[in-house]
Amino acid sequence: MLAGTAPLQFRCERGVACWNACCSNIDLALTPYDILRLKERLELSSSEFLAQYTLPYELEKDGIAGVKLKPVAGGTACPFMREDGCGVYEQRPTACRYYPLALLSLRKENEVRDQSSYALVREAHCLGHGRGPARPIDTYREEQGIPPGDEAAHGWRELILKKKSLGPAIGKPSKRSLELFFMVCYDLDRFRNFVASDGFGAIYDLPAEELHTLLIEDAALLQFGFRFLRQVLFGEQSIALKADAATERHARQQDKLARLEREAALRRAQDEGEIEAAEDD
Ligand code: SF4
Ligand code: SF4
Repeated sequence: MLAGTAPLQFRCERGVACWNACCSNIDLALTPYDILRLKERLELSSSEFLAQYTLPYELEKDGIAGVKLKPVAGGTACPFMREDGCGVYEQRPTACRYYPLALLSLRKENEVRDQSSYALVREAHCLGHGRGPARPIDTYREEQGIPPGDEAAHGWRELILKKKSLGPAIGKPSKRSLELFFMVCYDLDRFRNFVASDGFGAIYDLPAEELHTLLIEDAALLQFGFRFLRQVLFGEQSIALKADAATERHARQQDKLARLEREAALRRAQDEGEIEAAEDD
């Protein structure tokens, strides 16, 4: 684990003997913000981008999904690799910007915000190590234009860390919550339709101006999506509910509580019955 102040001596430039070797054999996870940038660059909807360029994978056990870039048909190369380099350089994914580093996000107990540290990846084919001037990792991140993308994807990393740290305490996520996570994080245009729907409007009380912004700005919608998921998955209320919806929600919570109490009482009665039967034996 390296701090942002640790020195990195690495340079990748055209003319190096291994040019494009890294892009010829990809295993590349995308952040929600990577998808947002790439779909805009390629002028595709998020659903079209996902279908054409990505593969889902299990990011965390219990089905929390991630998305990887799909290599070219029948091969291992990145679909954006060109002879003269990256065909989407200005919008290249975060993992490509970080290389040869990997970001490690960790949250210590009792800390509100997670801490970033870095791992250095050394692969035999990459000849960039030891080239160019040594500079702090933080400077390298700036050179590669990483901080804005990291900031924009921070809410997504937080959700994953939170799920990990709560683990079994909140139980296995429901199929519906996993689908919501996928839609909000990766299929932003579908989430936009969801936010614009009558069903959403009947539950959530969004000021008209905020709703208008969400419907026209991807970046704002993504950040709202992370808030929405914290509310739906972890009960962190930050989006106001309509009065009727709040009453219904309260009634549902009361029903659930009563059901859990009934189940607990039933289990206790069964346990006592088994103990008595064992004593009679
Ligand atoms: S997106 Fe660009 S930099 Fe990243 S693997 Fe593909 S070609 Fe290489
Ligand atoms: S130096 Fe490393 S990052 Fe640059 S082209 Fe070669 S393998 Fe890729």
